[in-house]
Amino acid sequence: MPETRIILEHVGEKGSESLEFYLGHGGYEAAEKALSMNPQDIIDAVKASGLRGRGGAAFPTGLKWDFVPKDDPRPRFVVANCDEGEPGTFKDREIVEKYPHLLLEGMLIAAKAIGANRGFVYVRAEYPKAQGILRAAVAEAERHGYLGENIRGTGFSFRVQIYGGGGAYICGEETALIESLEGKRGHPRLRPPYPVSYGLYGMPTVVNNVETLSNVPFILSRGPDWYRSMGTKDSPGTKIFTVSGGVRKPGVYEFKFGDITLRELIEEYAGGVIGKLVGVIPGGLSTPILRPEELDVKLTCEDLHRAGSLLGSGAVIVVNDAVPIAAVARRSLEFLAHESCGKCTPCREGSTWLARLFREIELGKKNGRIEKINHILDGMRGKCFCPLGEGAVAVAGAFINKYGEEL
Ligand code: SF4
Repeated sequence: MPETRIILEHVGEKGSESLEFYLGHGGYEAAEKALSMNPQDIIDAVKASGLRGRGGAAFPTGLKWDFVPKDDPRPRFVVANCDEGEPGTFKDREIVEKYPHLLLEGMLIAAKAIGANRGFVYVRAEYPKAQGILRAAVAEAERHGYLGENIRGTGFSFRVQIYGGGGAYICGEETALIESLEGKRGHPRLRPPYPVSYGLYGMPTVVNNVETLSNVPFILSRGPDWYRSMGTKDSPGTKIFTVSGGVRKPGVYEFKFGDITLRELIEEYAGGVIGKLVGVIPGGLSTPILRPEELDVKLTCEDLHRAGSLLGSGAVIVVNDAVPIAAVARRSLEFLAHESCGKCTPCREGSTWLARLFREIELGKKNGRIEKINHILDGMRGKCFCPLGEGAVAVAGAFINKYGEEL
């Protein structure tokens, strides 16, 4: 099954980051169409496409936009989440560094749909190059009337600001991102209220992942039926996967949802495993690992969920025998403990203890440690304030359940 490169079609071609290149390939035509549309018609088109968030939660995008209060005089905001702190994920960087106007056009369409005049791109601190490219792209789009005041003479205005992230993994969680954008420490907020009604500075705010917003111009220009013709009923469209770890051809790939299995992605596209395959983390480090015999699973949200893991951000990390699985488990939990923001006790204390116990197991002190880990997981499960803590529970549980003997 060949790749279906929709978002990535022109990514990386010579000059692809420039406005001239983008306009030469149909760029901003969807936005021009959207600017003449009724906002509800834009929302309905995105809803009909079935587009779901690509940042990990897979929430329906059109529904999120529709939740923004309609007759509310408060200003509203569009925020692109380019924090991309999930280990193994580098798909959004590919878009913003090589095809930034696609994201900006998606944001402009979202802004028209919800009536926002201000937007922000929250770019992870470790992506200074991407921040520079995005700032240049915004300036170029403003100079040519595709962003800023009275866009294309339609009377609609939308300004975009690029914001360098706070440098913490938790800032990728949308409410922590909003706190960070307000200049505060990146701690998640209690929900409800949800950001669509009480977000940035307490105003209605839509936060969407970069890849999610990059789908929107195609949906507007080619139509929801075209979009729905790709992928599966529950996961329409294409998905970008990043493959890293013990493979011969690590890289960025785009497929229709359900076109291939995890095994095919690794063996046929990523060049196969170097050495002996031990396991695969399918959706970024905070998703549960799968054993080699579990890889014949279609790459969709629903299939990976049935297989006991998650599609997450589509970051496939291949674990081979170059590193002991006990070290992989220890390093994963150390990362999550380090990135725990400390706001709630089950995650702050629990993840620290998990990292410590996995470290002891790696050092050969296995006696009673697995029982202790299971005891801690019982104390954390369902009690953490945000998905980071629950992710640590799922990740640690998978290592114990699937590799208990080999650790
Ligand atoms: Fe912070 Fe962890 Fe609690 Fe989330 S689960 S609020 S990251 S301490």
